Amino acid sequence: MIPAKGYAAKGPGSRLEPYSFQRRDPGDHDVVIDIKYCGICHTDIHQVSDGWGGSTYPMVPGHEIAGTVSRVGPKVTRFREGDKVGVGCFVDSCRTCDPCKKGLEQYCRGGMVTTYNGTEKDGKTPTQGGYSDRIVVDENYVLSMPANLPLDRSAPLLCAGVTLYSPLVHWKAGPGKKVGIIGLGGLGHVGVKIAHALGAEVTVLSHSPAKRDDAKRLGADKFYATADPATFDSLKGYFDLLINTVSSETDLNQFLDLLALDGTMVLVGIPETQATVGAFSLVAGRRNLAGSLIGGIKETQEMLDFCSKNDISCDIELIPIQGVNEAYQRILKSDVRYRFVIDSKTIGQA
Ligand code: NAP
Ligand code: ZN
Ligand code: ZN
Repeated sequence: MIPAKGYAAKGPGSRLEPYSFQRRDPGDHDVVIDIKYCGICHTDIHQVSDGWGGSTYPMVPGHEIAGTVSRVGPKVTRFREGDKVGVGCFVDSCRTCDPCKKGLEQYCRGGMVTTYNGTEKDGKTPTQGGYSDRIVVDENYVLSMPANLPLDRSAPLLCAGVTLYSPLVHWKAGPGKKVGIIGLGGLGHVGVKIAHALGAEVTVLSHSPAKRDDAKRLGADKFYATADPATFDSLKGYFDLLINTVSSETDLNQFLDLLALDGTMVLVGIPETQATVGAFSLVAGRRNLAGSLIGGIKETQEMLDFCSKNDISCDIELIPIQGVNEAYQRILKSDVRYRFVIDSKTIGQA
């Protein structure tokens, strides 16, 4: 076994504390990664607090992992020592079901093996995530990080980036399409950059006016505050595609009314409570309500290559691991511009 150090929550909602544990010895197809950076996703907060239910502890969160390869198993073909690599939200899947065969491992019928708060394929070892100094992952679930982008700023692409890229591409955001991004946080801000690079007209819908200048700087054409009721009058029937990234419950009907004929709202934010949708909001305008979960390995690599080509990386606040609990509090107040990233070299320091 390989000793690893990280930060873990010991129970629902508890503070993250230093934690020592073991990683498996690399098998034939495994890559050992020295973690350099790990983004903090709002999902980490939902899971640490057990807001969605089913959490297990101790839990080392983190699924926006970037680092370098320190060792490879004898049959690894795609990576070598020293390569810049990434790991996103899952580290394995059944590999045989239809979605897996199509490269849509995130929709694996047997359930993907999540990077943390899951169980390894041995059926018993809990998975532990990227708020740690190293990780061992099968090479088929490892991504190549773009050489031209800073590793700390590209770590959040591994969840936030692909979570927005996937629905934007699937629902054909591009020239002539009016796209609205609801919520300008970690997911939202990278969504604005990607939708802009795809050539769509991009509008940010943020709850207050505070992020107006940032939205424009990130590439938005328009900005509206949802706290202003006039927003919902002036944008009625406007959008072809809305991507809702908000982490807490919103009035979905109010947003559905902003869709044009045949428009689609895609939920990517996952609030801890269940919303109500009225049939009128959908039947009027033949509207669609959909959801989307991260992206498969192939699509994640495609997204990284797209970001490399378009010079897209995330706006981050780099923090020492000792600041993680305070960062959680700030995320809950929507006070992050726009992703906290842990500098892993601080793990193990006092
Ligand atoms: P985040 O950085 O906290 O951003 C969420 C944004 O939602 C905030 O910046 C804020 O934007 C808005 N918001 C938050 N609370 C609000 C409230 N009470 N009323 C109105 N707006 C509010 O979180 P994130 O990391 O982007 O994640 C967002 C959500 O997506 C989480 O639920 C997360 O679990 C989920 N997620 C889903 C997937 C997937 O595959 N589907 C992947 C990753 C994350 P404004 O200040 O602009 O209003
Ligand atoms: Zn995430
Ligand atoms: Zn599968």
